[in-house]
Amino acid sequence: LEWCVSVPKVELHAHLNGSVRNSTLFELARVLGDKGVIVFSDVENVIMKDDRTLHKVFKLFDLIHILTTDHSTVTRITKEVIEDFAAENVVYLELRTTPKRNDSIGMSKRSYMDAVMEGLRAVSSVDVDYSPAGLKTNTFNGSTRKKMYVRFLLSIDRRESTEAAMETVKLALEMRDLGVVGIDLSGNPIVGNWSTFLPALKFAKEQGLYITLHCGEVPNQEEIKAMIDFLPHRIGHACCFDEENWRKLKSAKIPVEICLTSNIRTETISSIDIHHFVDLYKAKHPLVLCTDDSGVFSTSLSREYNLASSSSRKD
Ligand code: 5GP
Repeated sequence: LEWCVSVPKVELHAHLNGSVRNSTLFELARVLGDKGVIVFSDVENVIMKDDRTLHKVFKLFDLIHILTTDHSTVTRITKEVIEDFAAENVVYLELRTTPKRNDSIGMSKRSYMDAVMEGLRAVSSVDVDYSPAGLKTNTFNGSTRKKMYVRFLLSIDRRESTEAAMETVKLALEMRDLGVVGIDLSGNPIVGNWSTFLPALKFAKEQGLYITLHCGEVPNQEEIKAMIDFLPHRIGHACCFDEENWRKLKSAKIPVEICLTSNIRTETISSIDIHHFVDLYKAKHPLVLCTDDSGVFSTSLSREYNLASSSSRKD
């Protein structure tokens, strides 16, 4: 594991609110508990539980969002998450998050993202380069700190409407100079229809944004086929493909973001020994190891590398 920590790494599939430290979640829960907004012991129970089936994970996200979604907390968790990845030698981080609108606290998708950017600028453990032209950094002249590249993907949640998805794409276009490079489609895979998101994703692609899709977390072969036909730049997970869709994916050479611990903990894949990572790796299909939600699944990118090395050695 030590070697896996020391080697410079690239993280391309990390959800901001899934990567929050447990200690931070507890601290936030205690504050909201003291204010009477939530019951601390209920929240503690959920955060401590080991039960992380796919269905339960989305309930947990709803709870995390109650704890984190105000501007100052979004800033805080962004700073902490970037510093945590930097601490294990991630040199290029593509962090994804769903811009959230909450009228009751004066939050728009834009102001949510401004809070994220403020968190990035507050990072103090490394120098962060966050603009494509390399012009925007938090560096001071003569700094000798380590350097890290950070880019953002804006996520569309499958609960959202076509209009809300389009708003996210327009925001991504507005924020290109601030390191936003693309769009992700995520959220509960049994919610929503591909046709709802397609117009916004098409527009995003036409405008030159990169697209990555959560694809095949459940065995909906029709949707998987439609997603591959769309030719996204990457897909995440690819767990429940039938033979025909595997063949299509491999011939289209669409890179796969592999999230080993997440797939096992959510019981999407029953054991590491039968995970498709080994097959894709041996077939030299483009892939990248990722954490998905290092907080929710208690993992780190170094642990994912370690796990992958043990699984690919087995046969
Ligand atoms: P956020 O976008 O709020 O920063 O990060 C949490 C959100 O990411 C969740 O509410 C969910 O929409 C998405 N997410 C995190 N992990 C997963 C996953 O394993 N599968 C899917 N489909 N979505 C996820």
